[in-house]
Amino acid sequence: MRSREPAICLRTTDYSETSQVVHFLTRQTGVVRLLAKGTKRPKSKSGGAIDLLSEGDLLFSAKDAETLGVLMEFSETSSHTALRRDAKRLNTALYMLELVHEMLAEGDPHPAVFDLLHRALQRLGQEDAPVPAVLAYFQWRLLRHVGLLGGLDACVSCGLCVGEMSDRAGVYFSSRLGGLLCDGCEGSQREKFHLEPATLEALATLAVAEVGRRVSLPDPPARSVNRLLGYHIAQQLGKRLKMARHVLGELGDGLFSNDV
Ligand SMILES: [Zn+2]
Repeated sequence: MRSREPAICLRTTDYSETSQVVHFLTRQTGVVRLLAKGTKRPKSKSGGAIDLLSEGDLLFSAKDAETLGVLMEFSETSSHTALRRDAKRLNTALYMLELVHEMLAEGDPHPAVFDLLHRALQRLGQEDAPVPAVLAYFQWRLLRHVGLLGGLDACVSCGLCVGEMSDRAGVYFSSRLGGLLCDGCEGSQREKFHLEPATLEALATLAVAEVGRRVSLPDPPARSVNRLLGYHIAQQLGKRLKMARHVLGELGDGLFSNDV
């Protein structure tokens, strides 16, 4: 089946001296894995090898999820050059690609995730973009979309609202339950991540953020949200993403000190 769709390059591997296997996130078909014949030749139609983050109009023929599809034509509309000039922005963008690739199954359409990634990459290319806030919004929205994050306004165990918790310094996050635990319920759960009150506030801001609108989050709480969600992702996948170290770096391997 032939399709022409907007697409973002998530991953590439060498196939032969002149060809690549390229994983794209397409808007209507979701993630597709395509054989891109001859793209590594300098005079190829795509103008050379297809690069990570490259966004454009893709013509392809896909088969079932097990069989490699074929890239027929790719015309790049953006290579996101602005964000490539800054290591922090570039690493954040590469982390987003890795995350999307891990979270979505092949051939499973998620137009909302395509739009989310498209907008996040655009925003990262703008000089005034606060990188931690852009990443916090991206991770939060993606996890909500794939159903790995519940409402974060009450204890998942006893239902007590965050507003009614007498000690907000005693709030925890359980990755296994995908939600918050109050001080009283925390003891019964072995795996948990402690949350500062400022992190809770930042999560509440994200919860009411409208799709496509800019979110205003100060840097330190945005970083805490990123560490929390990075922890949750690592727990869910059973591994750390390759780019996590560069993006959530300051916590390093201490990220897992809560593990039992
Ligand atoms: Zn509770």
